[in-house]
Amino acid sequence: MRRPIVAGNWKMHGTLAEAVALASGVQGELNDGDGPEVVLCPPFTALRTVGEVIAGTAVQLGAQDLHWEPKGAYTGEISAAMLRDAGCGYVIVGHSERRTYFGETDESVSRKTRAALEAGLRPIVCVGETLEQRETRQTEAVVRIQVERGLADLGERLRVVVVAYEPVWAIGTGRTATVEQAQSAHEFIRTVLASVAGVDVAATVRIQYGGSVKPANAAELFACPDVDGGLIGGASLEAGSFAQIVRAAG
Ligand code: PEP
Repeated sequence: MRRPIVAGNWKMHGTLAEAVALASGVQGELNDGDGPEVVLCPPFTALRTVGEVIAGTAVQLGAQDLHWEPKGAYTGEISAAMLRDAGCGYVIVGHSERRTYFGETDESVSRKTRAALEAGLRPIVCVGETLEQRETRQTEAVVRIQVERGLADLGERLRVVVVAYEPVWAIGTGRTATVEQAQSAHEFIRTVLASVAGVDVAATVRIQYGGSVKPANAAELFACPDVDGGLIGGASLEAGSFAQIVRAAG
């Protein structure tokens, strides 16, 4: 059985005081234990602070990006080892905002995924089609390429990777995939993972859904057989809403 995983992507939001308040609020709302795995992904500047708030609880820390080199002259970048040092267990890779605004490609996604794994971080690798791609029936072709190129040649190591299916048209728009659209895309991703790494490995990989998940729609999405939790943007910025979404995965 795959344990669901719900991650909050705080994006570029939060002073340290706001991060402490949000992390404390989330932690206060959740009972540590058997439910889904819960990951908070604050901005880099708040990683240590949030790590201190959630220390000793089951809530885990994640970053929103990394660089693939272990160190060097890469102004403004952060390595996987630095993220481990800051207490991270997870890192988001290839979010569509990074692909759209910062030139992230399937090749950089692949390099970052490998760097994360080598440093002992679990990558949450984002894939998903644009509205135009969906409307021109390219969803499966686009997602196949993103999965095959981004997760190439990982073999057994794929087991610790989390894939986030995030249709770009659903992110921050209030427009959510229907349960049929979500299940169909997730099932397809699992078949691509099977072709890349074998059926046994693919069966263990958790595939999150992301895109305007809210307390009102989380339960029906998470009930889909191939949906193993969610990657949550806007609704993760409010502790009560995020906790309700976590409970919907439990
Ligand atoms: C995201 O940014 O990964 C995301 C899913 O955002 P939202 O929940 O706001 O659509």
